[in-house]
Amino acid sequence: MQVYKFGGASVKDAAHIQNVVRIVQNANTPLLVVVSAIGKTTDQLVKITDSYFHQEGDPFELLLTLKQQHVDLLEELFPPSHPVYDEVANTFVEIEWILEEDPQDEYDYLYDQIVSIGELLSSKIVEAVAQLNNLSTRWIDARDFILTDNTHREGIVDWQRTEEKMRKDLPSILDTSIVFTQGFIGSTTENFTTTLGREGSDYSAAIFAASLQADSVTIWKDVPGVLNADPKWFDHTELIPELSYTDAIELTYYGATVIHPKTIKPLQNKKITLNVRSFINPDKLGTQIKTTNQQLRVPSFIFKVNQVFISIQPRDFSFIVEDNLSHIFNMFHRHRIKINMMHNSAISFEVSIDDTGENVWELLAQLEKRYKVAVATGLELITIRYYNQQTIDRVLVNKEIIRELKDSYTCQMLVKNRDE
Ligand code: ASP
Ligand code: MG
Repeated sequence: MQVYKFGGASVKDAAHIQNVVRIVQNANTPLLVVVSAIGKTTDQLVKITDSYFHQEGDPFELLLTLKQQHVDLLEELFPPSHPVYDEVANTFVEIEWILEEDPQDEYDYLYDQIVSIGELLSSKIVEAVAQLNNLSTRWIDARDFILTDNTHREGIVDWQRTEEKMRKDLPSILDTSIVFTQGFIGSTTENFTTTLGREGSDYSAAIFAASLQADSVTIWKDVPGVLNADPKWFDHTELIPELSYTDAIELTYYGATVIHPKTIKPLQNKKITLNVRSFINPDKLGTQIKTTNQQLRVPSFIFKVNQVFISIQPRDFSFIVEDNLSHIFNMFHRHRIKINMMHNSAISFEVSIDDTGENVWELLAQLEKRYKVAVATGLELITIRYYNQQTIDRVLVNKEIIRELKDSYTCQMLVKNRDE
């Protein structure tokens, strides 16, 4: 059995959806297909949630735009009387019901109820197009299978219950039909919708695959596979045809955005191959991530811009001790801030984090109550896996190093532009 995952860019318009269905048509079965929300739908749904929750602007107007985009798409794909029009309209009604009441629930809960609609819509539309093309299909609600705790926006998967449910119900359906389902969403024991974190559809694909012991997962992307650097920053990039799980985990941990970081570990545990392939060139093999002793031939580069560097010292200049560190980590956790790089010395603890706005400033205000805090913004974090001096020199042109960490494989440098 195989799992295919199609992201938002692969289903962004009618032609792209037809292309996805062609790829599915050519696939071996049994096959389970995980679909993300169409194009930028998730961002639009987040804006609707914000507008409603903060009572700013008109959430109905934003919703109307999104609805019209979906209707325009349906008109390109289906004859006028097709049942999918009603299904899509009914799915949007779920949001209208929420917007009609005054906001009372917590933001994260509301977010999940509204933002999850994007994947429900896209999976229904893609499945209906596959059916029009005479494929034997079945739509399932991922919330019946991916079971989480009630951490909204970052649901933690209950692997045991998830696996039990999937193994009980899905194999017989997969015997006769291509199964279409949603990425990104799950549900609590009380049947409230949760989401798995932004870009979490890759992770959903891994959860289905690991639970059902699939042979492989294929993530279809708009890039040829995993590259050694982001083409946004580099003129010359190389496709990595084969990658070990360990290297893939390290690269995504340091911020390579090609695969969601949570995706690889469950697949590694079950020895399931992860393919990253191009939906633009579906004949090409892309990258295979699997058990291999092959180390990366080429150095890989990961750039993270907009970094905030924070240096934290006890006010009385005493040493940083375990008690301080545990308190500091706890505060980062509470503000949902992920540390990209950390370094400690006797009297200070230093980190680099993404500049995510409000929650960073809240965190800093809290830290300042107990520590002496110094902050620098607008920095870049450069990570090189399998580095050598030449690669380091290459990325440091016109940059000044603020902190540098090296182990035998990985070099991380926090830098700022010299001319600033
Ligand atoms: N649609 C969700 C997002 O944009 C999940 C995903 O694309 O993987 O974050
Ligand atoms: Mg997306």
